[in-house]
Amino acid sequence: MSRVAYVNGRYVSHRHAMVHVEDRGYQFSDGVYEVCEIRDGHLIDERRHLARLKRSLGELRIRMPMEPTALGIVLRETVRRNRVRNGLVYIQATRGVARRDHAFPPADTPPCLVVTARNLDFAANDRQAAEGVAVITLPDNRWDRVDVKTVALLPNVLAKQAAREQGAREAWFVDRDGFVTEGSSTNAWIVTDRAIVTRPAEQGILRGITRTVLIEMAARLGLAFEERPFTVDEAYAAREAFVTAASQIVMPVIRIDGRSIGDGRPGPVTGRLRRDFHAHAERS
Ligand code: PMP
Repeated sequence: MSRVAYVNGRYVSHRHAMVHVEDRGYQFSDGVYEVCEIRDGHLIDERRHLARLKRSLGELRIRMPMEPTALGIVLRETVRRNRVRNGLVYIQATRGVARRDHAFPPADTPPCLVVTARNLDFAANDRQAAEGVAVITLPDNRWDRVDVKTVALLPNVLAKQAAREQGAREAWFVDRDGFVTEGSSTNAWIVTDRAIVTRPAEQGILRGITRTVLIEMAARLGLAFEERPFTVDEAYAAREAFVTAASQIVMPVIRIDGRSIGDGRPGPVTGRLRRDFHAHAERS
């Protein structure tokens, strides 16, 4: 079956889906994106993903390309046309097409909107989670507005590639004070003797939707939770570690920089959070 993409008001064949060479997303990374999980044909946490999209655009003073309700319809239609039951739907929104000039284009320049959907092999994901993944750590060399989900992902791309080249699945960025910020495409967590720990989202990280749901879930389940920065050394000594993202939910980390975490296998707390996640997420 051929794939379909939504591009600026039209559903077109994915193979021939194009944006203009003067699109500011292409020229300047002047745009944002969102990724939402599709499970059993339902969008997971759509409301929160669209709220974050609106916030990201607002922070960059880009107009919302369409109202959230209309965008929800486009998301569903893209998912439907691609017959995705389990997978991901991507939204890319940029400041539009204009003659190249760093400053904003005229105010009436329409933003560009692209929506794509694809299948994801959840079984392969589960197999990976049963084994756990390795991560490496790297200095965080990103700008200080990583709270905005921009398409400017070059440091993340280089970090992920460095991880792959060292046999790891993810790279954790570390700030100047030695604290872990987040992964190249995930939020970072550890489980200590006392609590589940993740960094506050006020500074230095993207406020992951999976992260937000997990924090609510920990509260509901009465699990001890601490929102505070943690160092790489603390992570080495943790009982468990894991990463979160819409594309992987909760993924156990069993090695950091070549050192085994806990007993070197996915831990029970991480396993429970992964198992129970969808009972707490919103499906629509
Ligand atoms: N941090 C970064 C840098 C990411 O790219 C992502 C995934 N988009 C996340 C965290 C996790 O966010 P979410 O749980 O909303 O997928």
